[in-house]
Amino acid sequence: MKRVLMIATGGTIASTEDGSGLAPTMTGPELARQVPLLDTLCELDFVQPMNIDSTNMRPRDWLEIARSVRDAYDDYDGFVILHGTDTMAYTAAALSYLVRASEKPIVLTGSQQPMANPFTDAKLNIYHSVLYACDDQSRDVNVVFGGKAICGTRAHKQRTMSFNAFTSMNYPSVAYIRGGRIVRPAGAPLAEKNGGAPRFYDTLNERVIVLKLTPELRPSIFDLLRRDYDAVILETFGIGGIPDHDGSYQEAIFDWVDSGRTLVVTTQVPEEGLDLGVYEVGHAYAQKDGILKGDDMSTEALVAKTMWALGQTRDPAEVARLFYEPINNDRVPR
Ligand code: ASP
Repeated sequence: MKRVLMIATGGTIASTEDGSGLAPTMTGPELARQVPLLDTLCELDFVQPMNIDSTNMRPRDWLEIARSVRDAYDDYDGFVILHGTDTMAYTAAALSYLVRASEKPIVLTGSQQPMANPFTDAKLNIYHSVLYACDDQSRDVNVVFGGKAICGTRAHKQRTMSFNAFTSMNYPSVAYIRGGRIVRPAGAPLAEKNGGAPRFYDTLNERVIVLKLTPELRPSIFDLLRRDYDAVILETFGIGGIPDHDGSYQEAIFDWVDSGRTLVVTTQVPEEGLDLGVYEVGHAYAQKDGILKGDDMSTEALVAKTMWALGQTRDPAEVARLFYEPINNDRVPR
């Protein structure tokens, strides 16, 4: 029988109400006990590195979860991480970079309603996740939620209440789970497993901020960010528009990259990605050395990948090399 390690970290799934709002209290074993038929799928063990609302999840916690996987890697066939939904997409992306090319599946799940709610989605999400973690064809980091499996670098929390909380951004879902069966849409052939070990990383640079352009946002914001941040992920308008009424944006952005800091350009439009070459209002940035293009990546993956790349090196050419390497389907090269 397969062996799966459940790594419980908190979230709504583990939350109970004590009069001051939902907060996580239930442990991994307490949650698993509520889910029928898990013992028919595999042997389960548990670790609990933290029990927090994922609002409080920080990069140091991602490293701790990755350490839980690394420490137990040889002893298990798969891993299921119970996690709050609010920042699950960031953690899933971060784990995709911290545990590279894992032939053993690492699944994140949670729920929109607490396990204690009689109409909860928690039971089915846990059952589906363990089923997915036990399947021979599963690999790498995925979010399993609401009956589908989404690549860890492509998940995005789209809904605050509905059970289908997550969508897969600019990339198809990798599987659907229907009536206890995993359905994998025909497509790219699955990479063969040859027993290879994943590459684990244990450093991140958390000095990364997302800046969303809004009309009249002052370019002097870049001066204010210098003290606390090494990288800005700039969510531009549309397919890649940055205001150019008086040249001050270009000056601020070029100064930022010329000072050795990182600038990643992406779009604030949720779907279909960036192309800086289309409009004059983006053109100047398309050819500038040191500006990295987010293309079709999700903002969550851009945050995690930039933290990871800057955690390995500060050499801009090496940062760019790491950034542009496709990892866990995070980008489709144009
Ligand atoms: N606030 C909760 C969390 O992210 C929401 C959830 O889990 O659905 O931990």
